[in-house]
Amino acid sequence: MEDVLCDFCHTPWTLDRPMVEGHHGSCICGNCLRAAWALTVTAQASDRPEAAPTKCTMCLEERTDRLFQSPAFPEAFICLRCVRLASRAVARDQEDASTAE
Ligand SMILES: [Zn+2]
Ligand SMILES: [Zn+2]
Repeated sequence: MEDVLCDFCHTPWTLDRPMVEGHHGSCICGNCLRAAWALTVTAQASDRPEAAPTKCTMCLEERTDRLFQSPAFPEAFICLRCVRLASRAVARDQEDASTAE
């Protein structure tokens, strides 16, 4: 477990913070996920009309929906869909009722 790093801030996974795994061993921690949520899900108005397809670090698909780019590691992206999936997984873990449907 000590080898698992967040792809977006390279912080090692510790038990006191949530970490969500992507499909190919990539990971995002709760802190980065919060930042990603704010910039993708919450920022509904600011769409990316001229978005070029960008490879999402979590699902490895070329995505044209909104993506969050890591400020510290610009090669790391997470797409809107993965943000939603990861947030749901974290909410399950933490019993965070605020994001539950
Ligand atoms: Zn992180
Ligand atoms: Zn994705």
